[in-house]
Amino acid sequence: MPHGRPEAERVYWLSAAELEALFASLAELEARHDIDIQPDFDDANESDYLVALPLLKRFSKRGAFFVPTDRIDQPGFLTSRQIRHLAQEGMILGSHGTDHVPWTELSNNELSRQLRHSKRVLENLTGNQVKGAAAPHGLWSPRVVGQVLAAGYERLHTCGERPCEQYGMLNHRLVVRRGDDVGAVISKKLQILRRVAHKAKDLHDRLFVTAA
Ligand SMILES: [Zn+2]
Repeated sequence: MPHGRPEAERVYWLSAAELEALFASLAELEARHDIDIQPDFDDANESDYLVALPLLKRFSKRGAFFVPTDRIDQPGFLTSRQIRHLAQEGMILGSHGTDHVPWTELSNNELSRQLRHSKRVLENLTGNQVKGAAAPHGLWSPRVVGQVLAAGYERLHTCGERPCEQYGMLNHRLVVRRGDDVGAVISKKLQILRRVAHKAKDLHDRLFVTAA
């Protein structure tokens, strides 16, 4: 169990064995539906490095890690060295703000500060441009979208089943909870996506996993 994680997030924690089983079923779903699924990991838990990275490498997957940058080098969370190593292994690093407060609750000034500061921290650590941001708790609004773009990002990752028609830079990710039948969840999302596109793989379709 990660240090200092709210009890309410327990439902999102998967054991290493559950994550491994999930990766195996994702590979099978990708083949069956002819899609690419990108696993996303939010919140900078140290298990991202200790558990998820080895599995991503074993399954030849490129994952994305969204980091609340105030947590870097804090007990139970990713260290600077681990974040650098994730980037060296070809993983994508993105912003999850600085302190994980929902962006819909922040003033424009504070949201802008968090978006720019976290981007700079991650870019200085990895040497790579940071293009993606994930909204804490998946909460967003048109104002948030405007601020994310103004801060120099190209994509905002949120959570939800529906396709993103109005805002092309949004990725509505599927959230995986303990005990979910991922095949059923993904099939339902694909049905929704296929109503608006011939090929699901033409759309931004993301899967969001948090491991414990
Ligand atoms: Zn989060």
